[in-house]
Amino acid sequence: MKTDVLIIGGGPGGATAAMFLIREGIKPIILEQEAFPRFHIGESMTGEAAQVLRRLGFGDEMIRRKHPVKHGVRVFGTTGVNSWYIPVAARDKEWNLSLASTWQVRRSEFDVMMLKAAEARGATVMQGTATKPLLADDGAVRGVTVRWPDGKSENIETEVVLDCSGMATFLANQRVTGPKYVGSYDKQIAFFSHVTGAIRDTGTSGEEARSNTLIFYQNKFHWAWFIPIDEDVVSMGLVTPKATFVETKQSPEEFFRHTIPAINPDLRRRVADMKLIEKVHVIPNYSYQVRRFCGEGFICIGDAHRFIDPIFSFGLSATMREAEFAAPAVRAYLEGKGRDKANPFTGHQLFCEKGIDNLEDMVDMFWEQPFAFALFAHNRYRDELIDAFAGRIYENERQPSAAILAFRKSLKRTRDYEHEDDYSIPIGSRFHPERAALWEPNSPIATTEEWMVARPS
Ligand SMILES: Cc1cc2nc3c(=O)[nH]c(=O)nc-3n(C[C@H](O)[C@H](O)[C@H](O)COP(=O)(O)OP(=O)(O)OC[C@H]3O[C@@H](n4cnc5c(N)ncnc54)[C@H](O)[C@@H]3O)c2cc1C
Repeated sequence: MKTDVLIIGGGPGGATAAMFLIREGIKPIILEQEAFPRFHIGESMTGEAAQVLRRLGFGDEMIRRKHPVKHGVRVFGTTGVNSWYIPVAARDKEWNLSLASTWQVRRSEFDVMMLKAAEARGATVMQGTATKPLLADDGAVRGVTVRWPDGKSENIETEVVLDCSGMATFLANQRVTGPKYVGSYDKQIAFFSHVTGAIRDTGTSGEEARSNTLIFYQNKFHWAWFIPIDEDVVSMGLVTPKATFVETKQSPEEFFRHTIPAINPDLRRRVADMKLIEKVHVIPNYSYQVRRFCGEGFICIGDAHRFIDPIFSFGLSATMREAEFAAPAVRAYLEGKGRDKANPFTGHQLFCEKGIDNLEDMVDMFWEQPFAFALFAHNRYRDELIDAFAGRIYENERQPSAAILAFRKSLKRTRDYEHEDDYSIPIGSRFHPERAALWEPNSPIATTEEWMVARPS
């Protein structure tokens, strides 16, 4: 089988990439290993993620489907009394800010909507698992071997593979990319479920809106999220250092039930009568960075190359925006541009990496200096943080902003974009190549316990 573009993964990244490619006149194949609908985490969107949806023509459909409207995010401190709020806001062409909104989604339904729309617009969706890349002698990616549900295998030859496989990081695990480094937040575990009976705010818009995202901060790397995903159901999640969980010797569900109310008094009040309607899912090792994630015949998108930390809900935003940015680069490549270069997508790679670096500096500042961060969010860098929280993190969006530059200074961090192998890993980081612990891609990660053994400390 042959196609111009093969997309691995039919999540929001893959479906978005397909729809923007179709606008460029390219009809891709999307290969998805799972039968949809399937449960997935990642339910709260930034303002710019909503803008991608509007650009793709889903604005009215999101309203018709009654997805909860998010007006902002409130972050509660340890006591549950103090909090700060960042509204969703948009920029116009003159760069004026105005209040806006975005959506919370139940991923099982949202992902089906996106994948079906990609198919209806001209993509071919096939259920199967990419098992092996097809490589030319010079290392260029020329396709993949696919295993179909009946167990048979087949090669699909292609000009470009878009790796939208999410945390499965297909091409990185196959060592097609550069190395995959453990990220800064690797020693944490997330537990999450869907609950009914949780107490929400009651407003219809602004700070008190009933569908806003609430974050409850307890301690460094110990926090919970509260994301309403329909009129009754709230996505509840808990993140904690792995050592805290291991010490308790509890099952994930016991730990979830005991620890959520203990995060802070305001959360305790909200979950007193919660009922779990979904099993407690666990994701332990979610922080990593893949080097050289673009090259001859391939681009990795979103989680397929980098995930920092879920605290401020950037995952969907990053993967959908990178998918949109990739489409014209792929068209240019198919038209013959950059074919003589070792990495025809260097510009795209650097552009995306710089964006996520800005995000990383913000998240690091929050964890390292939460009180200073709260003051910045209230006063000094309010507009800049409103931009970053909306997902405006790229250099064509006036980034790095004064806030990001100030965070770098506070973190005693410089960013070097001169050397291809080093850029974007902050100098001084324990993940800089000189000191980096390399992630072992083929470690068995079936259970939390196995993962803990398999991971480098
Ligand atoms: C604890 C936690 C909380 C989060 N909360 C949020 C949040 O509130 N908001 C937010 O925006 N983001 C959040 N995220 C991030 C979000 O889940 C991801 O960024 C988002 O799902 C990425 O979308 P994607 O399409 O790139 O990948 P995915 O949604 O993971 O889709 C990848 C698809 O590829 C398929 N696939 C994988 N390997 C293969 C293969 N070999 N062959 C064929 N198919 C394959 C998979 O089956 C999957 O369907 C969170 C992440 C974590 C860990």
